Amino acid sequence: MKLQDAASKESKLMTWDDTFKFRCHQKIDCFNSCCRDVTILLNPLDVVHLRKKLGISSTDFIENYTHLLVSRESGLPALALKMSQDEKKQCQFVSESGCTVYDSRPYSCRLYPLDTEQGVEYTLIVDQAKCHGLGESEEWTVERWRNEQGLYDYDDIDHNLKDVMHADRLWEEKIVDQRMQDMFLMAIYDVDRFREFVFESTFLQKFKVDDDIIEKIKNDDVAMLYFASQWLRFALFGQKGFLKIDKDFLNQKKKEVLSRKEALE
Ligand code: SF4
Ligand code: SF4
Repeated sequence: MKLQDAASKESKLMTWDDTFKFRCHQKIDCFNSCCRDVTILLNPLDVVHLRKKLGISSTDFIENYTHLLVSRESGLPALALKMSQDEKKQCQFVSESGCTVYDSRPYSCRLYPLDTEQGVEYTLIVDQAKCHGLGESEEWTVERWRNEQGLYDYDDIDHNLKDVMHADRLWEEKIVDQRMQDMFLMAIYDVDRFREFVFESTFLQKFKVDDDIIEKIKNDDVAMLYFASQWLRFALFGQKGFLKIDKDFLNQKKKEVLSRKEALE
């Protein structure tokens, strides 16, 4: 969500066949004005795209380019792009000629000037007084805009993560434990740290994971995100999915705990 203006509250709801007029270009007098002093929430796939574009780890990207927000209702962590600390409060990726990470820009920058809650109904997030591109003559349907901006690529992973992030249980019980919040943050956004957790802890002893999945998640960040969503389902709600617990490992651990207990008695 690119939060800039309250216009969306009054603006009419649109679905995929509805139309709006818009064109953004370097000669427009408001050029770049929407890339400052704005809250740009990041989709997990945005982190994957942007860290790749910048050639850095997800951990470094999170540390240098984002700030953490925690939902007051659910306790779920989310990341937003950090703006510059000076009075301009600009996005760190904006230049005189526009967005320097354009082909990897976040979901909400792609969607702008639209916004959506659930991907079904859309609203204009600004009005023409602020976004002069809305006064141009080029006409779009919501569907063609989504298509043109590469938003379809987000649908599968969003659908997969939505089950977890919108689960009633999370919103009813609220995550207050900081370790749980960090686990969530790691799994959803920090693909390199999560990969390290999977491959360098006892994770693969504890769970039986098919060899082809292990091979895939070694280098494929998107596959890792799907894997993370399965693991969160298990860790948060006890849903096993394709994660099978290795009973021998579990029994061995139980024996170790019992013998430690006996030694203390
Ligand atoms: S405010 Fe609208 S027209 Fe102006 S730069 Fe931003 S998107 Fe383009
Ligand atoms: S990522 Fe690009 S499009 Fe989005 S706010 Fe920053 S400069 Fe603007």
